[in-house]
Order: sequence, then structure tokens, then C-alpha cells
Amino acid sequence: MIAGIIDETNILPGRDCGPCALCCKVMRIEALGKPEGIWCPHCVPGKGCRIYETRQEECRIFYCLWRADPDLGDIWQPAHCKMVLYTEGMGHRLVISVDPGNPTKWREEPWYSQIKTWSFNLLRYGQVVVYVANRAIVVFPNKEVDLGPLKKGDVILTRENDGVWDAMLAAEDQLPQNQRGVWLDTGGRL
Ligand code: SF4
Ligand code: SF4
Repeated sequence: MIAGIIDETNILPGRDCGPCALCCKVMRIEALGKPEGIWCPHCVPGKGCRIYETRQEECRIFYCLWRADPDLGDIWQPAHCKMVLYTEGMGHRLVISVDPGNPTKWREEPWYSQIKTWSFNLLRYGQVVVYVANRAIVVFPNKEVDLGPLKKGDVILTRENDGVWDAMLAAEDQLPQNQRGVWLDTGGRL
């Protein structure tokens, strides 16, 4: 799984967006005031961006993982699986951002087993989080923790305590001093 920044130099042959545009629905676009989970007013679903040449910087620099990661096969093509994968927190959080029109798609096979495998592999140094619009669900190998809606400034924290994994939200910089270093903090949402 690619953890670094993706730019046009990482894009694999044949991994074009085509008519996908799912990121224009699932992502928040700050400059447009567009929240997560609704179509951008500039998007024509199935066709693309009406203002492609003058689109926002946020749009220009975003490339989903499927476009660059050879480990993600065709089943992870976003328009097909209804999920957009990317990383946050300097690559320490794998995000599966699900189309709110298919909010439980990630629980279906073959995707669910792969998401659980990633959770197991990243457990000690990273997080796997499913977003459905602004709701965050942390995926652990043996359970999921639904954190509900994220507020601006919230960070997602995870920890292991006596073999039990847990997750919570905290306002940025509000974690008690004695809890710092106990929880893995990979920051807030993009
Ligand atoms: S989700 Fe990925 S493949 Fe689909 S339009 Fe966005 S960047 Fe392209
Ligand atoms: S401005 Fe264009 S590229 Fe950006 S989210 Fe809207 S439709 Fe997509």
C-alpha cells in the first residue's frame, strides 16, 4: 500500500479517472464550501467536471490510491466499488471513503476481508478508517468503532490497552497530558 504523496508521476498506465468522479462526491472541498458526501455543483456525474480547466487547487492535487497503487486491483476502481481510497496523517491513516448512496458497501465481500487485512497489517503504527460523509468508523481486525460525525478540529485517536483496541475523537490539542503517547494520534481529516 502506497503511503506517500501521490502526484501525476505515480499514476499507473490505464488508471485514468474516465467517467468516475466519485471523489467529487465523497470529498469535502473547502474552497467551494462543499461538505463530504454530496455531489459538487460543478460535477456532471458520469461525465466529469464542468470547470475542469479552472477547478480548485484541492481538486488538482487529489489522486485516489487506486490510480497509483499496483496492489489495488480492478475491484477497487472507485466507480465500481463505490469507495475512494486515500491516506491522511502523513500516510499513517488509510481512508476508505464510501459513497453515502451505498453506505454499507465496505461490509460486502471481497472488500470487507481486504479492509480487515489492512487493519491487521497497520495496527501498530497506523489506522484504518471508513468515512461515510462526515461519519468516521475505525476498523480494527476484530471489531469496528463507530465514532459518529467528526467536528472541525477533531482528531481520531486509537490505542491498545491490555490487548483491547479502542478509538475516540478528541478536539485538537485537548488530549490530557497524561494521555499523550498512550493514544496514536494521526490527526484530523483532510
Ligand atoms: S475517485 Fe479516483 S478514479 Fe475516481 S475520479 Fe477521483 S481520482 Fe479519479
Ligand atoms: S470543482 Fe470539479 S473537480 Fe472539483 S469537486 Fe467540483 S466537479 Fe470535482
